[in-house]
Amino acid sequence: MVLRADRPQRENLTGNWRSLRPRIELERCTRCLLCWKFCPEACVELGGGLPAIDLAYCKGCGICAVECPPKCIVLETEPEEEPCARS
Ligand code: SF4
Ligand code: SF4
Repeated sequence: MVLRADRPQRENLTGNWRSLRPRIELERCTRCLLCWKFCPEACVELGGGLPAIDLAYCKGCGICAVECPPKCIVLETEPEEEPCARS
């Protein structure tokens, strides 16, 4: 297995590690992109300038929620079913 430096752990579905699931309240998002910058799994994607989290790789570490200036990323308990579902 080869791991690429620009997308760490892309060979593994790190979403399986998650016990907490981040949810972005987009109506309060200021588009600062700090969540994209700080995510250690590079799983925050940008569509039209708004962030979206790829839950197949989000490990639920919560760094994005800590770094988000308006605190509009909420960590919720991971549902039992489909832990790797995409947001
Ligand atoms: S919780 Fe946030 S920072 Fe952590 S892996 Fe998921 S999207 Fe990235
Ligand atoms: S850190 Fe928060 S405010 Fe900034 S782009 Fe991400 S969700 Fe939006």
